[in-house]
Amino acid sequence: MRITGLRATPVAVPFREDELWAYGGRRGMVSILLEVDTDDGLTGIGEASAYPSADIVLAVIRSIEPLVLGEDAFAIERIMKRINIIGTWHHVKATSPGIAAVEMACWDLVGKACGQPLVNLFGGRVRDRVEYFYYLSRKPAAEIGADARRGVEAGFRTLYLKVGSDDPREDIERVEAVRDAAGPDALIRVDANEAWSSSAAIRVVAEMERFGLELVEQPVSGRNLAEMAYVRSRIATPLLANEASWTRYDQLEVIRAGAADVVSVDNQMDGGLLNLKRSAGMCEVAGLPVLKHSLGELGVAMYAAAHVMAATPNFLYANQGYASLLSDDIVVGASPLPYVDGCLELPTGHGIGVELDRERVDRYAELYLKESAAFSFHESEALTRTPELPKL
Ligand SMILES: [Mg+2]
Repeated sequence: MRITGLRATPVAVPFREDELWAYGGRRGMVSILLEVDTDDGLTGIGEASAYPSADIVLAVIRSIEPLVLGEDAFAIERIMKRINIIGTWHHVKATSPGIAAVEMACWDLVGKACGQPLVNLFGGRVRDRVEYFYYLSRKPAAEIGADARRGVEAGFRTLYLKVGSDDPREDIERVEAVRDAAGPDALIRVDANEAWSSSAAIRVVAEMERFGLELVEQPVSGRNLAEMAYVRSRIATPLLANEASWTRYDQLEVIRAGAADVVSVDNQMDGGLLNLKRSAGMCEVAGLPVLKHSLGELGVAMYAAAHVMAATPNFLYANQGYASLLSDDIVVGASPLPYVDGCLELPTGHGIGVELDRERVDRYAELYLKESAAFSFHESEALTRTPELPKL
């Protein structure tokens, strides 16, 4: 099953409302769909998050094509070693989503060739459904409660909101409003995206803990593991590493430093599904649960990773997804993805088990050409700001 060609298609799918975080925002999501053709007629599908930009992902895919063409799609370890060592791509984290899309498409091909869903190739089911959180857009405290209620009524167990805004009192008020609206059983996860100083993190988290927190994600810089370990020792809520733990090498350092209670892992940030499994395995050995981070993904990438998560025991928390924000998707039969009680069921087809909906792919490829600037991680308004960090 020799690879004969790579076809990349960037698409832009609108959010229902803007995503806002400590340093920027975006109106929707850009993904790069990747189709990998083979000489036996099968086509594998992959997807890369447009990180750090769609242009970079497209350039990466173009550049690694000579290392992939003619290779046997079953030989995934060999292909990844060629890309990373011969191609020297392992030095550059920003290239990872493009490489991950190639690897994802190869796994889709392997599943199709074997007549098996991916979950059966990654260890088999330890769970039937994979759980995701409900993403609450940043809003004034008076408005965010209604969104929290909507998430709970839709069956989501975990509500996620960004904190680390310029005024920590507003963050605290938002958490209080979410708790009031969502009731005592909802799990509330906050993510500061590295914005706080250690003293701010300890002080603000203590205030928020009055309302009950599930996890505090990356409260301080992910580049300073001693500071993470210090904050972890001073707060009662489990600390979730994210910016600190994007690759397996980073995760090893987080484990060594005792810097987190839970570790975010991400195939997009570390070159593929096989590495997602390896990340979880390394954390399992260290006694740590994991969850999947997402830069924003559509149905191909969401379901590809869900197969691995369903086959891996220590994915014990709701994973990052964009269910509450995305208005649509690009896979057949999903507009947007069909979450039930905050969970996705695995597709039962071979490989990832999804098909691209050509009409919607065309529509969102056109939207990408017209409006992608507002959908990127570096939308124009964010580019004019210079954050002063850490926030005290
Ligand atoms: Mg995060």
